[in-house]
Amino acid sequence: MIPVAIPDLSGNETKYVLEAMKSTWISSTGPFIDKFESDFARLCNTNAAITVSNGTVALHLALLALGLEAGDEVIIPSLTYIATANAVKYVGATPVFIDVDKDNWCLDPNLIEDSISSKTKGIIAVHLYGHPCDMDKINKIAAIHGLWVIEDAAEAHFAKYKGKCVGNLSKMATFSFYGNKIFTCGEGGAITLNDKQLEIRLRMLKGQGMDPERRYYFPITGYNFRLTNLASAILCAQIERKEEIILKRNLIFNQYYDNLKDIPGIIFQPVSDWAVPAKWLYCILINEKEFGCSRDTLILSLKEFNVDTRPFFIPLHKLPPFKKEGVEKNVELPVTEELSECGLNLPTYNKLFNKEIVYICKVIRSIHNNYLNA
Ligand SMILES: *Cc1c(COP(=O)(O)O)cnc(C)c1O
Repeated sequence: MIPVAIPDLSGNETKYVLEAMKSTWISSTGPFIDKFESDFARLCNTNAAITVSNGTVALHLALLALGLEAGDEVIIPSLTYIATANAVKYVGATPVFIDVDKDNWCLDPNLIEDSISSKTKGIIAVHLYGHPCDMDKINKIAAIHGLWVIEDAAEAHFAKYKGKCVGNLSKMATFSFYGNKIFTCGEGGAITLNDKQLEIRLRMLKGQGMDPERRYYFPITGYNFRLTNLASAILCAQIERKEEIILKRNLIFNQYYDNLKDIPGIIFQPVSDWAVPAKWLYCILINEKEFGCSRDTLILSLKEFNVDTRPFFIPLHKLPPFKKEGVEKNVELPVTEELSECGLNLPTYNKLFNKEIVYICKVIRSIHNNYLNA
């Protein structure tokens, strides 16, 4: 089976992990944490990067630091991974789901104002499937209404918006380093930001609320949201191959496009002219009429040929935990619903070779031909 994703640990990952082991610094203090935080902040062009145990925790911590409470509302897209909405729930606030823009599949800035109420505190702008949100528009609306903006950049490491790196386009940005993300350490996350006061608060909250000036004195209730030096060792090795990994994934995206572009009924991820998306998982949409079968049938047929794929996210407003905010409220988000029904991700990982891409695309073409001739 060709899987959707495989972590690529072929650089100095093993060497650095062994170094961390031998040094006995295996918990959440150590040189790899400091090195990764300073490298990652420099690459995102921010003053600071704070490592945490995963991307969900990064979102949770960001919302805690902003003082979110029960009754507050946060505007998020419905088309995203469930972690974005779960983090809002963890702090007792309510996610308000809005639709995405058909031109880039990210939260549609034109729909934000209609969803703002007296309870709205902020917006989480998810750079979906690697594509950056239209941050200037989002930030402008937020400023007018006194809201904060957080970027959820879990799927978009080093994507560019108008020449600037994601991670430095709002109050805070959160990242995930889960095994299928572009840069990984298995489980890990980070928050990037420029605000020193907020940084101090985030670091206190992630470390059980300990006073930075007085060890083992805890003025507030905090959490243990820390990342280990072992995991950070993997990240240090990943990040030194940044250019190589980005080049490799660009190549994969180009190879997919070249092999699929003339198959009827396949629609590609649109790219706004101000965006250089990160290359996470390759996305296509299936137009059932023109392609010959539905997205779900294509997924099942590909499986028979040993190619694993995954469908797009199910709209969060249709899932049981968000019934109150979604289904029961009769929320209708047509672009989200359409994308969710016909989108799928094809295998995308650094060690995916051209011959495998050619094979996957040949299978897709033969499925198309079979259904059209049926
Ligand atoms: C992966 C992901 C997260 C959460 O990351 P974890 O590290 O798995 O907790 C959050 N938001 C989005 C959009 C993601 O894709």
